[in-house]
Amino acid sequence: MTEPILVAIAWPYANSEIHVGNVTGSHLPGDIFARYQRMRGRDVVMVSGSDSHGTPITITADASNSTPMEVYQRFHQTFLDLFMQLGISYDLFTSTHTENHFNVSQKIFLALLENGFLYKESQQQWYSTAQSRFLPDRYVEGTCYVCDYTQARSDQCDRCGTLLEPAKLINPRSKIDGSTPELRETEHYYLDLGKLQPEITDFLKQRSSYWRQNVMRQSLGQIEADSLRGRPITRDLDWGIPVPLEAEKGKCLYVWFEAVIGYLSATIEWASITDQPEAWNKWWHDKASKTFYFIGKDNIPFHAIIWPGQLIGLDTKFDELMGNSVKAPLVLPYDVPANEFMNLEDQKISGSRHWAVWAQDFLTRYDPDPLRYYLTVNMPETRDTDWDWEDFYKRNNDELVATWGNLVNRVLSFAAKHWEGVVPEPGELTSLDKDLIAAIEQGFETVGNEMEAVHLRGALGEAMRLASEVNKYLDTTAPWTAIKTDRAAAGRAIYTALRAIDSLKILLAPFLPFTSQKLHQFMGYNTTLFGTQFISKEEDSLGTHGVLRYNSDSAAGRWEPSKLQAGHHLDKPEPLFRKLDPVIIEEERARLGKPHQ
Ligand SMILES: [Zn+2]
Repeated sequence: MTEPILVAIAWPYANSEIHVGNVTGSHLPGDIFARYQRMRGRDVVMVSGSDSHGTPITITADASNSTPMEVYQRFHQTFLDLFMQLGISYDLFTSTHTENHFNVSQKIFLALLENGFLYKESQQQWYSTAQSRFLPDRYVEGTCYVCDYTQARSDQCDRCGTLLEPAKLINPRSKIDGSTPELRETEHYYLDLGKLQPEITDFLKQRSSYWRQNVMRQSLGQIEADSLRGRPITRDLDWGIPVPLEAEKGKCLYVWFEAVIGYLSATIEWASITDQPEAWNKWWHDKASKTFYFIGKDNIPFHAIIWPGQLIGLDTKFDELMGNSVKAPLVLPYDVPANEFMNLEDQKISGSRHWAVWAQDFLTRYDPDPLRYYLTVNMPETRDTDWDWEDFYKRNNDELVATWGNLVNRVLSFAAKHWEGVVPEPGELTSLDKDLIAAIEQGFETVGNEMEAVHLRGALGEAMRLASEVNKYLDTTAPWTAIKTDRAAAGRAIYTALRAIDSLKILLAPFLPFTSQKLHQFMGYNTTLFGTQFISKEEDSLGTHGVLRYNSDSAAGRWEPSKLQAGHHLDKPEPLFRKLDPVIIEEERARLGKPHQ
């Protein structure tokens, strides 16, 4: 039986495009990890989707004179296109605005309610008499009672940074029509995190030996410093998932509460779309299942404290309400390898100031693998990192082109020229040849160990070090000169180098899937290393939503060393990577801070 692995990636908010910081923060590490695990033969499901509810989307809609549905769908489509182009191989990338997600979220609400982990409490909230509705905090502005700033949001002042008490705001007004709102009492449901605290603490302690330190510090450390308090999970809003109680008309589930449920609901949707409706149980009920959550550090409390708390509180009640054949507790997160942030040219990435490298815009000028490469060598696994255009240019030319691409091209072209594109007969291997082959084969373990521990930078660094070893080997054996005097020695070196390259192709494939596939073809194979991605349309009572999917039927790549034999036919090679001109550094820097087309 193969180990079930769920790769759960943070749900991007559908009111902005995706920039390189988002890609390296969650989507790319999740994809590299999933591709590796699939090659190991494990049962991988990788899910995410567009977070389509909440006030930022309704505000964007109001500002652009469109509906929240239109705003979410516009960005959702750009996400699907981007992940296709960048090879982020989601088994399902869906959205929170689906009938399935509504149903699963409502059942979770009811299960927590029945199990006694929700309570009601009243709070004061702004109410618009003009519109006969409650206004979310972000819809009300006024004068800050600390610094007199006249455009403070009712819950926070953007000038002095104070978290404000809404009731004390001076001259409150509605951002929709300028009318004066009044404070009214409203009742909301709270998740009783205090009651769940002992079990959440145990859950964290059981994982403290292998989690990233910053994640443990931000979760267990925080609980130990200050105990958990209840958190409201409903809001007076009409865009979102209705609270499934007759008496609570007009209230929605708070977006932070329902978005994390997406990991579960998306697995259920994936099972249903692939005509195996019970299959999701394997990832959510099988004790051997491991679930990995790829997120940015701003999301740690939601994934390391609150989501585990929600899951613990369900016990078997969720299965009962769903009418599921299995009735068991749900699998808790195995690891939450949260990343720090990536900055851009030493400044914080900011969409509103256009200080960002937008992933889709980038792909209009460059190929996907150089982006994946640069974002992996610079992945903010343990500290914030920086996107620097000069560094991108150097890494592309000195590492991708010089160390790896030229190695491939040199060896394959030489084999084509002198052996008519056939892998030469090696004869008896020398200790030098055997040492290289052994070092590369050892890489399946060393790179693999780094992958298992989600040290993706380390894994790529080790694979590239092995590529340098092949270059050193060729410097020593020099088949280019040996061919004139000792054809057998040259053939032996080329055979050895080809075998090493054929193995390196696999070690690098999770990072560089597009060029590894190209190389696979140059090496004369007619199979594909990975499965295929495609977009399909799904319909339900809420409308049509596009989803990104992955079909692994054709995936032939295995995490094992090359078995290349003499006599195997090779194909004509082409350069894998494009050498960049230094002029791009200034051109790209000049784009920063300006709106892109
Ligand atoms: Zn202020």
